[in-house]
Amino acid sequence: MNMIFLGAPGAGKGTQAEVVCRELNIPALSTGNMLREAVKNGTPAGLAAKDYMDRGDLVPDEIVIGILKDRIAKDDAKNGFILDGFPRTVAQAEALENMGVRIDKVIEIDVPDEAITARMSGRRVCEGCGNSYHIKFKPTKVEGICDACGAKVVQRIDDKPETVQARLKTYHEKTAPLKDYYKSRGKLVTVQGQNEIEETSRLTLAAIKG
Ligand code: ADP
Ligand code: ZN
Repeated sequence: MNMIFLGAPGAGKGTQAEVVCRELNIPALSTGNMLREAVKNGTPAGLAAKDYMDRGDLVPDEIVIGILKDRIAKDDAKNGFILDGFPRTVAQAEALENMGVRIDKVIEIDVPDEAITARMSGRRVCEGCGNSYHIKFKPTKVEGICDACGAKVVQRIDDKPETVQARLKTYHEKTAPLKDYYKSRGKLVTVQGQNEIEETSRLTLAAIKG
């Protein structure tokens, strides 16, 4: 099954993707994680992307599409995948279609903006493997250390309140139109994401299986 997880920054796409990956044994392909990795490694794509990311803007389509195209071609994506954070523009959705990638379902995780703003201050991410945590809702077992890989868990520069506002604005302008794009293709399923993580996971798995 090939799926897209759609939703505002901080809606919980990454968290739910981790759960569903384990359940269905397919990889989650997060363009945000790929880009942060590229920045860390100082690759040409990373150097080009960094300033956009720090400001809360989208990275230009051609850069992200290139990275995603390479990733989706790898062997582990042959039996299905979850796209987390891609596509984020109509142009990216069209690029996916032009690559001949079949999408079975688009799961929209819906969370009101007010709840997002409150959530983001507690969000943390692993520097090593990119797993996401929250100091209150999903703490690490050992403070500051990733449960999965033992690397350091940090706050992202773009999780500052001003930047979160910019990212929400970008989401509504550039990404939210994808809801109609996939609705008109009969692929969109919406899941309420403002409650507990476990509750959202239950709804997400039901949406996938239903
Ligand atoms: P979140 O979902 O919390 O906003 P991500 O980790 O998915 O965070 O993305 C972080 C940043 O990486 C975005 O703000 C954006 O700058 C960049 N990015 C990630 N995916 C894309 C994409 N598909 N198109 C353009 N920019 C992207
Ligand atoms: Zn880790």
